[in-house]
Amino acid sequence: MLAEKKETLNKMNGVDRNMIGLETRAEILRWLKEDDPEAIRRLLSTADRVRALHVGDQVHFRGLIELSNLCRRACSYCGIRAPNRGVIRYRLTREEILAAADTAREMGFGTVTLQSGEDPALNLHELCETIRLIKQHTRLAVTLSIGERSRNELARLRDAGADRYLLRFETSNSDLYNAIHPPIPGQINHDRFDVLRWLDELGYEIGSGIMVGIPGETYDDLARDLELFRELNLDMIGLGPYIPHPETPMGRCMKDLDPPPDQTPNSLEMTLKVLAITRLICPDVNLPSTTALETLTPDNGYENGLACGANVIMPNLTPVKYRALYEIYPGKAGQTRMASELMRRMIDNLRTMGRKPAIGPGKSTHYLLRHAADGKGVETNGIEIDESIEP
Ligand code: SF4
Repeated sequence: MLAEKKETLNKMNGVDRNMIGLETRAEILRWLKEDDPEAIRRLLSTADRVRALHVGDQVHFRGLIELSNLCRRACSYCGIRAPNRGVIRYRLTREEILAAADTAREMGFGTVTLQSGEDPALNLHELCETIRLIKQHTRLAVTLSIGERSRNELARLRDAGADRYLLRFETSNSDLYNAIHPPIPGQINHDRFDVLRWLDELGYEIGSGIMVGIPGETYDDLARDLELFRELNLDMIGLGPYIPHPETPMGRCMKDLDPPPDQTPNSLEMTLKVLAITRLICPDVNLPSTTALETLTPDNGYENGLACGANVIMPNLTPVKYRALYEIYPGKAGQTRMASELMRRMIDNLRTMGRKPAIGPGKSTHYLLRHAADGKGVETNGIEIDESIEP
């Protein structure tokens, strides 16, 4: 049944793809450089149509819980990098995490996303126990975004009940990646693509993604990123614009940088184009409209992303007193706003857009289809049994 559905959808999507043309790197590049407003409008609306065909009109809400802003790394763009001595550091207690997960359940969300820097003192045994308790008490799906981990650690987290894992590769340009995300001398540094492969072997739903407009990134790099989304067979893809943080090496020297002639912009328009192309290239993935988009255009950033291919929103459920401390980039949206306030806005606006909030875990359709194809059995997806929920 799922295979037949996929075939029909692929045929329909083929019509849209032929209209847009995204098979080759040259075609992707052409769309990235397109500046005719009418052509861009056509790209975004085609992505919206393909989203409706493949993953439906439901919008999945994931409760984001930022576990810890401690990190052993020194990424040159990130406000909570280890060398930033001015950051007040925090790590949530188990009680705080469980309370936030309970809020996610009460609000009707199907998933919590546990995110943190690469906190060396985030005790793995403790984290596994917390995941078990979240699953026992709330039955929510658990997504992890806690950086590069060993295969053994990932296996233990999966055994504890973690369902999904997000690890952005940020850019396909390895020189640029090593410059912005330097390895830690004397410590084990895992290759991100190895980690993504382990996650697949362990049965996780796999997510990755990029930043758009990193200083030094060319259009060709960005086109290669988009090709890589397809090659990596991802279930979830997260992307947002690079937003400079003044307390970072990259943010401080922005004005002195000599960008390559083919530098990509970190603009709203470019981010929306990349989002739309991602939906067209990977039609059945889960694709968030990210907080970084909302930060660029407060009060309608999430809606902008939803209108050109996105189908996931991640309201912040971190206790409010810690939120400003998880400042990867400045002015991050949602630092003081309660999730219930955002939900009221979203539910009103979703109705206007012909969309509706989903219930259930909201597994990626791509994940369900590839597991059906692997003969690992078909699981149910929240989107097939979803009903609207009221605020
Ligand atoms: S981007 Fe992630 S890994 Fe890098 S310093 Fe920031 S929190 Fe740490």
